[in-house]
Amino acid sequence: MLNFDETIEPKTAPPAASRVNVVDKRIINGTTDVNQLVPFKYKWAWEKYLSQCANHWMPQEINMQRDIEQWKTGQLSEDEMRIVKRNLGFFVTADSLAANNIVLGTYRQITAPECRQFLLRQAFDEAIHTHAYQYIVESLGLDEGEVFNAYHEIGSISAKDDFLIPFIDVLTDPQFKTGTVANDQKLLKSLIVFACIMEGLFFYVGFVQILALGRQNKMTGAAEQYQYILRDESMHCNFGIDLINTIKLENPQLWTESFKAELNDLFQHAVDLEYAYAEDTMPRGVLGLNAGMFKEYLRFIANRRMTQIGMEPLFPGADNPFPWMSEMIDLKKEKNFFETRVTEYQTGGALSWD
Ligand code: FE
Repeated sequence: MLNFDETIEPKTAPPAASRVNVVDKRIINGTTDVNQLVPFKYKWAWEKYLSQCANHWMPQEINMQRDIEQWKTGQLSEDEMRIVKRNLGFFVTADSLAANNIVLGTYRQITAPECRQFLLRQAFDEAIHTHAYQYIVESLGLDEGEVFNAYHEIGSISAKDDFLIPFIDVLTDPQFKTGTVANDQKLLKSLIVFACIMEGLFFYVGFVQILALGRQNKMTGAAEQYQYILRDESMHCNFGIDLINTIKLENPQLWTESFKAELNDLFQHAVDLEYAYAEDTMPRGVLGLNAGMFKEYLRFIANRRMTQIGMEPLFPGADNPFPWMSEMIDLKKEKNFFETRVTEYQTGGALSWD
């Protein structure tokens, strides 16, 4: 039985020389050896790790020639260019925040090695995403200083990051340890903000916009990169939701009425921030999209995330105005929507000892 007045050190080294019994494993505050991956308890985490490895891709495999030509020869309207720049302005630093959150924060608090294995893969995915955005910025010859500073300089972007950063800071504080109800709730709240709001909501205006460009045969290289990123992010989000739900199951005392009320406020605030971002990126209708459509979409997504973690939806009846987005998420490996590359990832060939 856990004593909530005591803090428990995050486990990094084997405790005693004993074999791991699967029933003793826990997602947080576990006392079993984190270095013994098997016997598996959380098979869903291992399955998702394998899926992410099978989804491997690298940004430089995608040809950006057509994008460069379209960008540099005035084939995009000013509003379309604004969307691309605002998007990159948010995303070039967002995945870096995500990586810091995992590597410097979440990882050391999670005591199930299957989940740690997924987090290691996820951290590499975030590096690939930052690489992809950097590759687009470089290909288009954008002002790096402007794009990489947008998270300080553009209000609609910095407002989203200012919302997120306290939830990252709480976990990256070297003094932070789980093992009390209050701290376990802090961890759980950060996991929910990260999976359901950051990866699960704050990315979606941007994803819809760039994929809408691609559907109109514009910036198809960038759109293809975003499509791979969307696939990765939806897996990260699903992993996060499984993690959250398993922590809830193992620690039902954390899921109190006041905790849920706090989460309701966070979801409401997040929807408002993402909607303000949609308005800023689309002052007028563009690509058949307008900010108003996103009000409904964001409510639809927020409902979905809330239901996925066992909450009552905040916006009953909200509809999805972009049903085509689900096709994008369910990208099949063998068939790529934009058909600029064979999507099946192939490694560089076997080593030769000759
Ligand atoms: Fe992610």
